[in-house]
Amino acid sequence: MFRSLFLRGLTLFLLAGAPAVRAIDEELPNDAAANLSTLGRAPDWSELEKFQATITHDEFVHLLDYVYCTRGYNHDVIQIEPDLARILTRSGTKDYFVLHFAKSESDRLPLAHWWTAPAGLPKAPEGKPLSGFRIALDPGHLGGTWAKMEERWFKIGKAPPVQEGDLTLRVGQLLKARLESLGAKVTLVREKAEPITPYRPSDFDETARKFLERAGITKPRENFDGPADPEKEQTVGWQRERMFYRHSEIRRRASLVNYRLQPDLVLCLHFNAEPWGDPSDPTLVDNNHLHLLVNGAYLPNEVELDDERFEMLEKLLSRSFPEELELAESIAGAMAKATGLAPYRYKTENVTAIGANGYVYARNLMATRLYHCPTVYLEPYVMNSREVFARVKAGEYDGKKQVAGKLRLNIFREYVDGVVEGLVEYFKQHL
Ligand SMILES: [Zn+2]
Repeated sequence: MFRSLFLRGLTLFLLAGAPAVRAIDEELPNDAAANLSTLGRAPDWSELEKFQATITHDEFVHLLDYVYCTRGYNHDVIQIEPDLARILTRSGTKDYFVLHFAKSESDRLPLAHWWTAPAGLPKAPEGKPLSGFRIALDPGHLGGTWAKMEERWFKIGKAPPVQEGDLTLRVGQLLKARLESLGAKVTLVREKAEPITPYRPSDFDETARKFLERAGITKPRENFDGPADPEKEQTVGWQRERMFYRHSEIRRRASLVNYRLQPDLVLCLHFNAEPWGDPSDPTLVDNNHLHLLVNGAYLPNEVELDDERFEMLEKLLSRSFPEELELAESIAGAMAKATGLAPYRYKTENVTAIGANGYVYARNLMATRLYHCPTVYLEPYVMNSREVFARVKAGEYDGKKQVAGKLRLNIFREYVDGVVEGLVEYFKQHL
């Protein structure tokens, strides 16, 4: 705890000169009694006051039913009346936040948010179609020496290991240069193969123990036997690592996006994978596919968590969804064309297909939920497919080359081309 309090003090000190950045209180361990997600913070519901009378009853219900609560929800925690909604603020109490609806579309009060949709930008100069648009690129995961810990690492024979966090960072760097050449203002949320959270697994030792205790595991094992250990989730070691590389890291990125970068769009860059078993002797598959995600499809038990319910409403009320859906569809269409990949078909219940082209799903991921602006999450390519493995092994090269039985661009170039084309297309339609 000493280290974490020290680092927190240091962080607050370093940020003291930047009024736009608030204390990073999201990363403090949970209040044991609170009904919050891992490392979540108790919400300040007064932050939703700015949304009073900015949405009609019908639009609110439509967004709940078709985007955010597609799997249903407990009608005790969100109660809807003709002119208002009552939202439970804290589980176990009878305290509600009351949201008043606008009486009609014409009565809606204007929304205030930092981001601007392409349609709201001034006319772009010739050759710079993305002029003035601020994009934050979020290369998924950490890569580098962290890739094994975050289980985004596999190795086949003498080939260099495949590490998702390194692939996404390379895509981010190439994409940044391309988007800037088209006039966009681009930042990388992560610029190297290192975490941006100042915390480390040992800072979450106590929180991991509490988490396991609450899950009914009273005498947890300390360590686990590698990624294939079937009971790793019940160990302190695995939980505290996960709290570091996933929860703390993504919450930290959200603080950076929301309080400092404040972009018009975040693109979360990932590569997909199918289960590969032993990372030193991974299973290669024939499947290869593409899909994109936007925030939505909360499960009923997620809506019951105080922080996720609050964050869902913040997301819904900010109306980033229409932007997200159109952008995701445009990027998905262009990526499908660039890659020739078929849409991924989920076999799980935690998503809802959305839009018309079959590539876009709503899903409640931490990043899509926590970033307070339009956010699109990209999942092209199955890293452990025979084809993608061969392409990653081939690395970067100019022009086209025969790889995995076909003449093609290098995989990084193809990824970047698809995203750029999709964004440019979207701007063409909306400027
Ligand atoms: Zn990923």
